[in-house]
Amino acid sequence: MKQQPGRPEKRKMAVVEKAGQVSFQEFDLAPPGPHEILLKTCYSAVCGSDLHLYHDIHPFVKAPCTIGHELSGRVVEIGSSVRGFALGDLVAPEPVLVCGNCSYCQKGDYHMCNDISYQYRRGQAGFADYFLVDDRWAHKVPEAVGEKAAALIEPLAVAIHGVRKAGNLLAKSVAVIGAGPIGTLAAHICQLEGASKIWLMDRNGKKLEAGTALVTEAEGVDTTKKDAVETVLAATGGLGCDVVIECTGSEECAVYALNMAAKMGGILQMGISTRPFSQYPYARILQKEITLWGSQGYCFDFQRAIALLTAGKLNLQAYITHEFASRDIAKAFALAADPLTGSMKIVLSYE
Ligand SMILES: [Zn+2]
Ligand SMILES: [Zn+2]
Repeated sequence: MKQQPGRPEKRKMAVVEKAGQVSFQEFDLAPPGPHEILLKTCYSAVCGSDLHLYHDIHPFVKAPCTIGHELSGRVVEIGSSVRGFALGDLVAPEPVLVCGNCSYCQKGDYHMCNDISYQYRRGQAGFADYFLVDDRWAHKVPEAVGEKAAALIEPLAVAIHGVRKAGNLLAKSVAVIGAGPIGTLAAHICQLEGASKIWLMDRNGKKLEAGTALVTEAEGVDTTKKDAVETVLAATGGLGCDVVIECTGSEECAVYALNMAAKMGGILQMGISTRPFSQYPYARILQKEITLWGSQGYCFDFQRAIALLTAGKLNLQAYITHEFASRDIAKAFALAADPLTGSMKIVLSYE
């Protein structure tokens, strides 16, 4: 086993003890197993789903729980059976846990695994100074991409996975509802795919400003000032847009999506709803022959994300609006939870 001197016996991992309370705690650090790699974390990023956990309103996970799943790290120790990695390699770990045996896993659709889970749900935080990853899920990242951008490969993979569902976007009109990181990344990918028109919509003016600064061809729509549906209908001669990407999960926005999509258009649902809809005009799906796509996680999309970044197609580091030292994790979460700050991605660094 190749080991760098000084692997500590303990590591620090972030735990949400109860709603609104997150801090680092010490845990034993085991040496990597034969197929594992030990990473020293470079950066980890705060995700919208981390906020659900932080507020203890996550649909599947209850506090106390380890937290975090977006990170980059450098290889500091390599298991005996691992090939193709060297000490110091920059790695983006894919934080999934799958069974490998169910029919979905066997077909390669591992994101649909009957027993899918994520490291943070099984006791390994992404907010941690060390992270153990199976070599299968350790994605090497070229140095030119950089340690900070590498920590955002996970959300980029989420956005890529979703946008791929919508098929060929060349010369299509796309409305993206929700200018958070996933919506903005999705809009960015639509731009790369050659969409002819992109609206990026949000009711939070600061978020919208940050989003439209990143996706230069997108037209921002502040939905507190302009009617979202009217804006799209007016610009398309009443037809509506080809594709709507819904990234908020709210019923109000899901209804907007149905009303702004053209007949035979598509709606990509990426926002996670926290409760069932009661006033959703379901019949409109049939009347307009709308295609509705769901999107969940990623499946071989880390590789696509890394390929995009390696080719220099998108500046992921520009998504980072705030950076904290890991000891200030409580401040980082307080900031992330405050909608008035206009934060896009917040990263923590580790000494
Ligand atoms: Zn995430
Ligand atoms: Zn499986």
